[in-house]
Amino acid sequence: MTEPLRIAVLKERASGETRVSATPETVKKFIALGAVVAVEKGAGEGASISDAEYEAVGAEVKSGAVTGADVVLGVQGPEPKALSGVRAGAWVVATLDPFRERARIDEYASLGLEALAMEFMPRITRAQSMDVLSSQSNLSGYKAVIEAANLYGRAFPMMMTAAGTVSAAKAFVMGVGVAGLQAIATARRLGAQVSATDVRSATKEQIQSLGAKPIFVENVAGIEGEGAGGYATEMSEEYQKAQADLVSSHIAKQDIVITTALIPGRPAPRLISDAQIASMKPGSVIFDLAVAQGGNVEGSVPDQVVVKHGVKIVGYSNTPAKLPADSSALYARNLYNFLSAFWDKEKGRPVLDEEIGDAVRLTKDGKVVNERLLG
Ligand code: NAD
Repeated sequence: MTEPLRIAVLKERASGETRVSATPETVKKFIALGAVVAVEKGAGEGASISDAEYEAVGAEVKSGAVTGADVVLGVQGPEPKALSGVRAGAWVVATLDPFRERARIDEYASLGLEALAMEFMPRITRAQSMDVLSSQSNLSGYKAVIEAANLYGRAFPMMMTAAGTVSAAKAFVMGVGVAGLQAIATARRLGAQVSATDVRSATKEQIQSLGAKPIFVENVAGIEGEGAGGYATEMSEEYQKAQADLVSSHIAKQDIVITTALIPGRPAPRLISDAQIASMKPGSVIFDLAVAQGGNVEGSVPDQVVVKHGVKIVGYSNTPAKLPADSSALYARNLYNFLSAFWDKEKGRPVLDEEIGDAVRLTKDGKVVNERLLG
């Protein structure tokens, strides 16, 4: 009989990281598949999961959980020194931030680890349930609106009161991917009048179907349909100028702006300039969900409320970490869905196929092997 696969669940060490990569629910399922799961002491603390809850489903809870591990699960990429004692060729499954953490990826390679970057999951139907970017963006879009509402000195819904009418807030969502769609839905639920924009034409209908108004550049072509893999690319100068003009005329009338625009492997596109902020009403709030990737908004600073021209600009370096219980639950399921989908019963471990395996695998046999990193 083969030895059972050993899975280690790390306690996250990055500052501000509150999430955990496995929950009692997913640990139980891994054990049901035949794996042994070791969870680092206190790993679930930030997400309100106690060691006892992991123990109750059969996990070993200890410090040094990585010793002898075949698979190490993390939210963020672990420091290579936190991995000493793992088996040769062990998998490291986490969001590894491959472009910005290249030196660390090289270290994983030289340690002979097989690093699997969850954010490189291809956007194909069968991988939807494994897509950590979607699950985390969804919650981020929600949280961005809640935080903006909290900082806004007025109400979102229209209210007719005996003392007079409170008018509805006007919210504008820039970038309508997973986070943007959830931001639209959340702002609508709170009673705001919502408009939204994107460079991908496919989003127009999605905006309308959520009851919001699409605001689109008409005179210069954007990205037809969804774009490659649902992702945007950098736009031409001509488009950027047309977009800036459009935004300038629209933004001055908005109370709340949520920006979510990202381009994979690139700094976030700049969508709002200081001059545009100056045209907004004092008391307006801008939430820059792209702040950690360079920011969509001029002057936004991670984890600070910056006030410019009377407008509050806010954004977190790690928005999903602000709702760790839900973001961990979804993230953990993404990892479970991924590893269990490839479970080989005879080998008692996952065996990846080419389409998904090659997309997410960064390192193997001492080398960096991913096309996107080899350029
Ligand atoms: P993202 O986080 O990469 O970017 C956020 C949004 O910003 C995107 O809609 C993008 O078009 C937009 N954007 C980029 N540059 C912009 C600019 N200059 N101005 C305005 N907007 C700009 O995107 P995402 O949330 O990861 O999702 C993108 C698409 O992929 C969505 O349509 C989503 O439904 C699809 N998707 C598919 C799958 C799957 O099939 N497995 C999984 C996840 C997402």
